[in-house]
Order: sequence, then structure tokens, then C-alpha cells
Amino acid sequence: MTQSAIGNYPTPVERLAGLGTAKTTLWVKRDDLTNPTYGGNKVRKLERLIAEARRRGKRRLVTVGAAGSHHVLATALFGGRAGLEVDAVLVPQLRTPHVAEDLRADVALGAHLFTARTYAGAALGMIAHARRDAYVVPMGGSNVVGALGYVDAAFELADQVKAGALPEPDAIVVTVGSGGTAAGLAAGLRLAGLRSELVGVVVAAPAFFVRFWTRRLARAAFWRHARDHGLAVRSAPARALTFTSSYLGAGYGEPTEAGVKATAIAADAGLSLDATYTAKCFAAALDYVQSARFEHVLYWHTLSSAPLAPLLEGAPDEAALAPALRRLLR
Ligand SMILES: *Cc1c(COP(=O)(O)O)cnc(C)c1O
Repeated sequence: MTQSAIGNYPTPVERLAGLGTAKTTLWVKRDDLTNPTYGGNKVRKLERLIAEARRRGKRRLVTVGAAGSHHVLATALFGGRAGLEVDAVLVPQLRTPHVAEDLRADVALGAHLFTARTYAGAALGMIAHARRDAYVVPMGGSNVVGALGYVDAAFELADQVKAGALPEPDAIVVTVGSGGTAAGLAAGLRLAGLRSELVGVVVAAPAFFVRFWTRRLARAAFWRHARDHGLAVRSAPARALTFTSSYLGAGYGEPTEAGVKATAIAADAGLSLDATYTAKCFAAALDYVQSARFEHVLYWHTLSSAPLAPLLEGAPDEAALAPALRRLLR
């Protein structure tokens, strides 16, 4: 038996009482609390990915991400805890204090870090590092194996609806970066019999490719789950997934005005957001509440709320980072 459960489930669902309107209630799914050391949405994906790497007898994870990638940080932490070596190829990202801290934490966690100037270069770098003992984890942990973690999450939500923790949401609003989270949820919602519309808020570019890839991954996750559980489904159900690219702004990691406003509103409600992912998604969730199209809107919170300080113990100062790493912070 491989021991791979790293998350605490179910994560709570809560009502954001101050942010509703007469017509619409706003709820939050607290996936920031998936793990006390480092939570967020990468935990559910990595649980599956680490188990798969072990099942295949691998000793090493090779992955890729931006300089401040939450996925690389989570892989360094949980891969390391599982006894796996972690190699990551990093590409430049706009510097924010948060991005710089994530990078310093990667170093402190002992990940082997390599740099590339572009994602194309990073792909070549991953191939170069993909030795026989390595399991290659794509950007964001978003392959079909990773997405299955979010199929499970949809079943978890369905159980919470059944238990009366919240009503069946009319709309669920989630961030779409590399797509694994939204893809798994889209597949899982249908498999679990929920009728909620899933709204994917695209925060990475090019948006058309993100949409295409996420849909593909949703279909793959649907069939893989059905196969793994011996379900006799004959056709993938009607689309559960719609997208909006209206909150992307100038691009991945580029803050937006709507995001800054949403961050202040969320802070008053006790939720802290990041500029790259959750600020844009929460801005969308607030607009869906205001639109009065839905009675119950669920915002799926994907950012770790665990304090980063313990992971920064022993990390080099930014000025002491290797020059190649420092150059990643644009
Ligand atoms: C990675 C990440 C996302 C995006 O999830 P994907 O599965 O890559 O689409 C959303 N929010 C946060 C905070 C993340 O770190």
C-alpha cells in the first residue's frame, strides 16, 4: 500500500454572509485548508500524482512552472515528504513579494531548480531531466491523473450538499490556470449527479488554448473515472463547463484593477487572495452575485492560507539567490 493521503477532507464550506444580495447567496469552498503546512488546490492533484509515481516505481518528480509557481512549491514539499527527489524547470515571472517568497521556499525545500527563458525551453529542459527513474508532472500538475483529485473533490461537495451543509449551488466559480482543477470538477460534478454550472475563470494565456485543453482534460477525466470505477456510462454528459476570459487582463500574473478591488472585499470577509489566480476569480464570483442570475453561487477557493514563514526557515534572502534564479523575477 502506498501512503499518499496528504490532505484533510472534507474541506469546509461556508457562507459569506456579508457578500450576498437579496437574491443571491455567496458560498466558499475552503480548499485553502487542504493541508496545514501548505494548502490550496495543488494538494488534491499531487496526492494522485505522487501515488502514480510510486506505483510506477519512480524515485524522482520532474516538473515545470513559473518562478513563483504554487505547483512547484507544493511538489517540492509533498514530493520531498514522500521521499522523492524533485527537479523543477522554472521560467521568469513578474516579481511580486509573494512570487519571490515562493521561489525562496523552493530553494529551502531542497528542490533541484533549473531555469529556462520560455516554456518551450522549459519543455526541452524537462525532457533533458526525464531520466528513467523520473515521473514527469506537467505544468500545474494538470494531466488526467492530477485532475482525478478534483473529480473526488466534486464527490466530496455532493456529499456536503446531501448532508445539508449547503444547498446545491447554481453556479460554481473556479480559477482556470493549467486547467486540471476545473476539468476534474466538471467531470466530477456530472458523475456525482450535481447540476451546478461550472464557470471557469481563465487567468492564463492564450485563453483559447486554455479552454481547449481544459475541455479535453475534462473528457479524459470523466472516462478515466468511469473506467476505474467500472461505471457503465455510454456517453459523456452535456457540458457542465463554461468559461470567461474577461478577468485575465494583460495576461498571466499581471494584476488587474478588478482583482485589486476583489482582494480588499475578500480581506474584509476573512479571505486572503493572490493577484495571479484568486483575485481574478473572486472578482468574477462577485460579479456573478451582482448579476442576480443565480440563487446560490459557490466560489471555490484554491489558494493556500497556511503561513509561508515556516517554509522560509533556512531560505536564502532574495539577494543571496543564485543569479540565474534572481533573473527569473522580472
Ligand atoms: C495553480 C492554481 C490555480 C489554477 O489551477 P489549475 O488546476 O492549474 O487550473 C488556481 N489558484 C491557485 C491559487 C493556484 O495556485
